[in-house]
Amino acid sequence: MAKIFCIANQKGGVGKTTTTVNLAAGLALIGQRTLVVDLDPQGNATMGSGIDKRTLELSVYDVLLESASIAEARRRSEKGGYDVLGANRELAGAEVELVALERRDQRLKTALAAVDGEYDFVLIDCPPSLSLLTLNGLCSAHGVVVPMQCEYFALEGLSDLVNTIKQVHANLNPSLQIIGLLRVMFDPRITLQQQVSEQLKAHFGDKVFDTVIPRNVRLAEAPSYGVPGVVFDGQSKGAQAFVQFANEMVKRLASLR
Ligand code: ADP
Ligand code: MG
Repeated sequence: MAKIFCIANQKGGVGKTTTTVNLAAGLALIGQRTLVVDLDPQGNATMGSGIDKRTLELSVYDVLLESASIAEARRRSEKGGYDVLGANRELAGAEVELVALERRDQRLKTALAAVDGEYDFVLIDCPPSLSLLTLNGLCSAHGVVVPMQCEYFALEGLSDLVNTIKQVHANLNPSLQIIGLLRVMFDPRITLQQQVSEQLKAHFGDKVFDTVIPRNVRLAEAPSYGVPGVVFDGQSKGAQAFVQFANEMVKRLASLR
């Protein structure tokens, strides 16, 4: 059975997509069969995996509207070593089209059930909002991974997400839990970041992952080459941190079972 995770944070530009594609590539490197689901109409996870969003014949949009299965719509990221259910601008329309449909928040979950045996991990890259798309992600998932920058307003933004997760847990998906908070784009030379990092640990305890992802220019450069940073420059500090994170995820899951 696949373990399904949303990479979520309603703020934009916090590192969700970078975390999704690099964790996927890291998991692939250590032999985990992985599917990335791009739930953001910007299609950054699709492009960052080396798949041109403009050439998608079928995408997560068709899957949500039940006109295609995941088996039909997925593509292979040859460089990343994982599969991708891609997204493009078309997905922005799904939000409106889904509202009138039955089981509108359960569509992705139903579709994923059909490929469950084929993967060890499914990583869902969520858009920067608490929308119906994100809700489809949260209703499908066993857990949420929250990437965050250690900045002044970080904790404040977190409470909305934590409340949404609690509500989904109570009403729609009792198996949903926060797997952990991942500190990303971390610069240890900045005192404020160290302070916020300490606050996070004091507040959330072992929900904070041990692995810290440093700010690293190679991670930022990789998407323009259509390759996850882990593959683009395996020796870089950012790549090594994501491989370490992939190992931590596998270990954390083993202890949850
Ligand atoms: P989100 O998906 O939350 O909007 P992204 O993953 O797209 O965020 O990241 C936002 C920007 O920050 C991108 O330009 C990305 O390349 C850059 N970035 C993300 N993580 C890092 C990092 N650890 N070091 C340097 N740049 C990063
Ligand atoms: Mg993104």
